[in-house]
Amino acid sequence: MKNIKILFCVFIFLTLNGCNSQSVPDFDNENAYNYLKKQCEFGPRVPGSTGHQQCKDYLIQTLQRHADNVTPQIFMFSFGEPVRTVSATNIIAAFQPEKSERILLCAHWDTRPWADRDPNPKNIIKPVLGANDGASGVAVLLEMARLFHIQKPNVGVDIVLFDAEDAGNYGNDRSWAKGSEAFAREFRSTYFPRFGILIDMIGDAELAIYKEQFSVKYAAPVVDLVWNKAAQLGITEFIPTIKFSVFDDHIPLLENGIPCIDLIDFDYPYWHTIEDTPDKCSASSLGKVGRVLTHIIYEQK
Ligand SMILES: [Zn+2]
Repeated sequence: MKNIKILFCVFIFLTLNGCNSQSVPDFDNENAYNYLKKQCEFGPRVPGSTGHQQCKDYLIQTLQRHADNVTPQIFMFSFGEPVRTVSATNIIAAFQPEKSERILLCAHWDTRPWADRDPNPKNIIKPVLGANDGASGVAVLLEMARLFHIQKPNVGVDIVLFDAEDAGNYGNDRSWAKGSEAFAREFRSTYFPRFGILIDMIGDAELAIYKEQFSVKYAAPVVDLVWNKAAQLGITEFIPTIKFSVFDDHIPLLENGIPCIDLIDFDYPYWHTIEDTPDKCSASSLGKVGRVLTHIIYEQK
């Protein structure tokens, strides 16, 4: 009789607290950093290049190990002077595709064709390696994909790696974020996630992430969710003030009704230079962002 009472109490406890609540798996910082280095080993991932093709195959194969399905979205992309037209690919990895409640996590995987912010004029025609600007966001999402496979969250998740983000012209917003634009156009009437979080340039060893203006203006509750969680976890690199407004991959999503925010550390001295290399990034920084996002996903009901 005593045992039955205990079982009954456990049942009541679980009912009140929700059987949905589950532990949050550990985000492995070193794993994430290895994913960053691995992408950089292919060299720059400029659309149309060998490194781009090889990295695409690697990303698809890695995600196929963890996701329920991986779908490439192929589109034509024109950039540069003289204009080059090449095939570009968004990589869409779905976890628990049967669930209607979904969260979008995204990052761009291509790298800039020109290091045109490099202080040395000889370098401006060289491509960017993109350890932080490209590989860092992808690295965090690959590690999260591994966790989603080991322990299923309560909600469905889509990891989307955008191509063709970083070959734009500084004066022309619409020349950037072409992969996200293609994704938003194709899925505008069929895909309605609860919210989206874009991560870009979050691997800087000197991490400081300020709130981004468009994110606050158009998706304030998602910004609050992230900064509150960071504060709760004691991760002080999320600074609760607005600093930049960035035309990034979240803009075409916001324009098509997906409340998506951009987590970006735009104070990066190696931005669009040939010095954007893995030694400027750290496992610890990837881990701080990864830990906040992992908590947010696993705490969704
Ligand atoms: Zn860039």
